[in-house]
Amino acid sequence: MKVLKFGGTSVGTVESLLNVKSIVEGIDAPAVVVVSALGGLTDKLIATANMAAEADPAYRDEMEAISSRHFHIISNVVPEDKRPEVIKEVSLLLNELKRIYDGLSLIKDLPAKTLDVIVSFGERMSSVIVAAMIDGAERRDSLNFIKTEKWFDKNIADQKLTTQLVIEEFQTPFNKAIVPGFIATDKDSGEITTLGRGGSDFTGALIAAAMEAEVLEIWTDVDGFMTADPRIIPEAKVVPHMTFIESMELCTFGAKVIYPPTIYPVFHKNIPIKILNTFNPTAPGTLVTDTRLESDFPMKGVSSLRNTTIFSLRATPGSDIAEVQTRTFNAVAKQGIKLFIVTIVPERNNEFSFMVSDNDAEIAMDLIKSEFAPELSKRSIETPLMRNSLTTIAVVGEDMKNKKRLAERIRHSLHRDGIKVEATSTGASDTTITFIVSPERTERALQIIHSLVF
Ligand code: ASP
Ligand code: MG
Repeated sequence: MKVLKFGGTSVGTVESLLNVKSIVEGIDAPAVVVVSALGGLTDKLIATANMAAEADPAYRDEMEAISSRHFHIISNVVPEDKRPEVIKEVSLLLNELKRIYDGLSLIKDLPAKTLDVIVSFGERMSSVIVAAMIDGAERRDSLNFIKTEKWFDKNIADQKLTTQLVIEEFQTPFNKAIVPGFIATDKDSGEITTLGRGGSDFTGALIAAAMEAEVLEIWTDVDGFMTADPRIIPEAKVVPHMTFIESMELCTFGAKVIYPPTIYPVFHKNIPIKILNTFNPTAPGTLVTDTRLESDFPMKGVSSLRNTTIFSLRATPGSDIAEVQTRTFNAVAKQGIKLFIVTIVPERNNEFSFMVSDNDAEIAMDLIKSEFAPELSKRSIETPLMRNSLTTIAVVGEDMKNKKRLAERIRHSLHRDGIKVEATSTGASDTTITFIVSPERTERALQIIHSLVF
């Protein structure tokens, strides 16, 4: 059995939906097909919610536009005999959505829970349309089997419960099962939640892992993983194959191909991922598996992640820096903040740096200050330095020979171009070298590194 996931651009227009139809109808075995909301709709639903909550009457026009977009698609892709039923179902959803927006405009507030309910309408509607469009398809509702639990102020997938429920759900035979991506319900309250922006990929992965699918196909609007973002590097090329680890590193550091959490569940079950293009369905795409191939490129890509904050901590010479590190990481991790890349300069063994996302920076600073309050007042640790809004550039490849030397060469070339590298890390993983640079120099740095490496 295969699991296919079609992203927003793939289900965003009549033309692209007709491609989806022919791709799915061409599979002569049972398949689970996960769909995103119509391209751009999730952003639109959020923007409209904000308007409504500010009592800006323009939300009504936006709501109208959302409705007509769906009706236009329905009348062009759904076979005539099924159209009245689909129009009825989608109208019910649109009416409910409109009532929620009207409610927001009265209470002038937008609780996070309500926003989750609002965005869920995107996938609920697209899945109804796709299920009616595809011959022999039926809809299976992920609100019944994708479950989340609370983790600090976030909702995260409860993979164990989800696995059980998915197995039960798909015990009843199906030909093509169309599933809304992204949306879930809280395992305790039953309230609607989501898997986070870009989360439809993750829905696909959870189902593929639970069902031990033969492959997870991610259908998108590019030919696969590229050696760099082609909008910045026109000569970037498609990477035919890479390992799970490499794909994980590239996505963690900004490649927009797959939502990073997607990779873990399928990696764990050793289910290959294929990245394919709905608009160029015969292109080979990128295959992601657990082993390197003889034919692999030695390097797989250069990606960048904006909005990085770097923290530097310095203790008095001779202090136990390992202990300072452990306490720092524990203090930060306890609040659920993800900390990535740690750099230690060997010659300066009383200091270290680490990175977090800009969004987490303030909280991380408070946590560190309270953890080290006694040391800070005694001045055995200096006030942590924090710099926001930097870019992390990652160079990824499991076959990287002599990482230290490559890092040196890259630093050198960047330096020659007047680009200051704020920090480098070669130790964080075997697969990746990272460089922290200022945001204005990101594109130039990517160009220099890409031409050096590829
Ligand atoms: N529609 C959701 C989003 O735009 C989920 C997804 O497309 O993966 O974030
Ligand atoms: Mg996506």
